[in-house]
Amino acid sequence: MIHRIEPVCQTPLWQQALAAAFTDVEEFLDYLELDSNLLPAARSSAMQFGLKVPREFAALITKGDPTDPLLRQVLPIAAEGETVEGFIADPVGDLDTAIVPGVLHKYHGRLLLIASGSCAVNCRYCFRKHFPYQETTVYRDRWQQALTYIARAEDIDEIILSGGDPLTLSDGRLAELVTRLNKMPHLKRLRIHTRLPVVIPSRLTDELVRWITSGHLKSVMVLHINHAKEITPALATALTRLSQAGVTLLNQSVLLKGVNDTLPALVDLSYTLFEAGVLPYYLHLLDKVAGAAHFEAGQKQAQQLQEALRNRLPGYLMPKWVREEPGLGAKQPVF
Ligand SMILES: *Cc1c(COP(=O)(O)O)cnc(C)c1O
Ligand code: SF4
Repeated sequence: MIHRIEPVCQTPLWQQALAAAFTDVEEFLDYLELDSNLLPAARSSAMQFGLKVPREFAALITKGDPTDPLLRQVLPIAAEGETVEGFIADPVGDLDTAIVPGVLHKYHGRLLLIASGSCAVNCRYCFRKHFPYQETTVYRDRWQQALTYIARAEDIDEIILSGGDPLTLSDGRLAELVTRLNKMPHLKRLRIHTRLPVVIPSRLTDELVRWITSGHLKSVMVLHINHAKEITPALATALTRLSQAGVTLLNQSVLLKGVNDTLPALVDLSYTLFEAGVLPYYLHLLDKVAGAAHFEAGQKQAQQLQEALRNRLPGYLMPKWVREEPGLGAKQPVF
């Protein structure tokens, strides 16, 4: 009997999707049938922070609609070049808290591991836009330093893999890391902060389900979804497999003007998350990062939205509204 032999080093589908993402502004605008007068500003803003949009995500954007809520999150526009008072390069003060390269120990009992500096999508409002990853990411040769730190820090019971996006690393590398974390008895929980499966659902591989549920650590995945349109049947199916395997699924969103700053958008987001087995966790007010001022919803509008949403949703579908304050060991509730 002849078996088909798979090449050993076959590139996983999700890595192929990652490599095929739109990075050329002109090609992206053409594909979306958008006006070419958007091109010069898109080009110039992309020089500061490149365009990166996986094709599966681009396919969810309504063609020819410059106001599409998904498009707005990823298209570089002229407003990014404006200097606005109060909007700065490192608004959450992360650079002050790195002890060992790639390790942020700023929350009680929880330790953040910047496992990868890259992302599958470049979100224009991102507070890590100006983050000097080269200096702070845990590189292959630095795993050991980070792991030694974690092994000794017995007051830590939760490891948060963050980034960038930790799921840009291969399953092989993540499995190796998680195996080593599972050997540390003081650790109880493993948390992964990621947006990658949202833009490339095939990232939720069988192999990922295996390493994430191996060992004694309880796993939590915190997704980053801002709009109900981002939750496709493919994503919902993949997430269901994860929750059936015992992974707790939560979501964090950012309140973004022109994306989700309306009552219907936020109600729809919570319900659609729940349908996919995900509970809304945080709704962040925008971090005041340079070049993102056009995403800020007014304080009064935000407060009214929060009240309206609270009156509308069951308590368990109401995310906590929070703001990051530099130097504080917890998210600050707002209003
Ligand atoms: C707030 C935050 C945390 C800690 O999250 P909690 O859910 O409050 O424990 C970890 N990583 C990042 C990037 C955060 O912003
Ligand atoms: S860190 Fe998250 S929000 Fe920032 S660009 Fe990457 S995926 Fe987007």
